Amino acid sequence: MKKIGIFDSGVDTPEEIILAAGFVSHRLFGDPNIEPDKANEHIPPTHCVWTRNLLEQAIRGLDKDIVGIIATHGCDRTNREFDIWLKCINLDFMFFLNSPFKRHKIASKFFIDDMKELIAQLEDRFSVKVSSEKIKEAIKLMNKVRSLLMEISEFRSKMVLRGADFHALVKKVQQIDKNEAVKLLEAKLEELKTKKPIKNKDYKRILLTGSDLDDTEFIEYIENLGFQIVIDDLGIGTKYFWNKVDENKEPIEALAKYHLEKPIHSTKFPSYERFDVIKKLAESYKVDGIINVAHKFCEPVLYDHPYLSKKFKELAIPYLFIETEYNRESYKQLATRFEAFGEII
Ligand code: SF4
Repeated sequence: MKKIGIFDSGVDTPEEIILAAGFVSHRLFGDPNIEPDKANEHIPPTHCVWTRNLLEQAIRGLDKDIVGIIATHGCDRTNREFDIWLKCINLDFMFFLNSPFKRHKIASKFFIDDMKELIAQLEDRFSVKVSSEKIKEAIKLMNKVRSLLMEISEFRSKMVLRGADFHALVKKVQQIDKNEAVKLLEAKLEELKTKKPIKNKDYKRILLTGSDLDDTEFIEYIENLGFQIVIDDLGIGTKYFWNKVDENKEPIEALAKYHLEKPIHSTKFPSYERFDVIKKLAESYKVDGIINVAHKFCEPVLYDHPYLSKKFKELAIPYLFIETEYNRESYKQLATRFEAFGEII
């Protein structure tokens, strides 16, 4: 089955439209094993390491089944970089979806209009009909995926499922056919119901937030230093499945409402709303500490950090901020900082 690739830091791409057009939605992830040599010919090396990595992969050649790309305005890196993708990537279909930063009525109308334009261009380019009925069916399917992920996510907090295993699962679900995803998640849920909690009671309960952290090996690396990620605030995590789309509303309006009302993500502002979201999660999941990881040159997360640091200090909630390169060699240098954090909490 042909795929439409998603280049999105804010998980605001309405996958339902892609499914209704008859494609598999396939979110693009980075590859920490490659260096962005070719991308660096187009973008200064002081630009977000993650998006440069994605551009590098796109220049080298994406999955052969990907026939188009939708880039959604998650942060300004994805926005401006798409201009460069248009110049140096040769694909049948490339669309920039304007997901607004504001969340009032005018922003909603703007988002709805842009989604309608996306539908019109998909129909025109691929000679398909994206009907309201098909979008409604896709909403039901995606809501099923969301509710299964939500249920499975809770097994992290019950110390039954490691955060890294959950991360790998969410990542897989974002790339495969969603009917297959439902089968995979249902089987996983049944398996988890029979499992006992992890024996190591010394793991510190952590909330993980930050940039587009898509390397499961990095999550595994953190957990192996004595932590259990019981909840997260990531695009490859809760931001992908928190809440559901209203199945009774006009479908495009429902999609706009869902994306504009879901808990504010790290790519968005203002910082005080971000703080409220993280604080509530930290309290309800009774975490021992918060770890905020920024990819190098990730401006949205870098700008949030001073405010979050000050506020969590006031609340006496342990908070660690880490800035990383996007390669596995560099992770090793962070061990001392993670271990020191583990000792103070
Ligand atoms: S949110 Fe950060 S890591 Fe993600 S694309 Fe934007 S700058 Fe890069």
